[in-house]
Amino acid sequence: MSSAACIFCKIIKGDIPSFKLFESDKVFAFLDIQPLSRGHALVIPKFHGAKLTDIPDEDLAEILPVAKKIAKASGAGDFNVLQNNGRIAHQVVDHVHFHMIPKPNEKEGLGIGWPTQ
Ligand code: ADP
Repeated sequence: MSSAACIFCKIIKGDIPSFKLFESDKVFAFLDIQPLSRGHALVIPKFHGAKLTDIPDEDLAEILPVAKKIAKASGAGDFNVLQNNGRIAHQVVDHVHFHMIPKPNEKEGLGIGWPTQ
């Protein structure tokens, strides 16, 4: 299920360009266009739904293993995984997404393992 008006559905289809990091049958991951840190990624289900509660369990189950892969590939030891639901919780794009935000390490910097924007 996808929504014609949804910006992330358009990214999944390739109608809007993105820096793709990972794709499977159920999951898509790409760099955030306004990164909070170098390597800030978004991991999303291909199933369109605004909130966590809208997404089938079998689609959700594949999200965290991808966030883990990306966190490892980033080389950053410290990172945040964030997921906002609804305006009061600061959600802007109404397609479920998990932010994977690498955090600088005082000694080693970010150590990002892929080229970024
Ligand atoms: P917030 O902006 O408060 O983090 P969300 O949790 O809804 O709200 O996050 C939406 C994220 O989507 C933002 O970090 C934004 O930079 C990102 N974003 C919006 N449009 C694009 C795009 N075309 N390509 C990549 N990332 C995008």
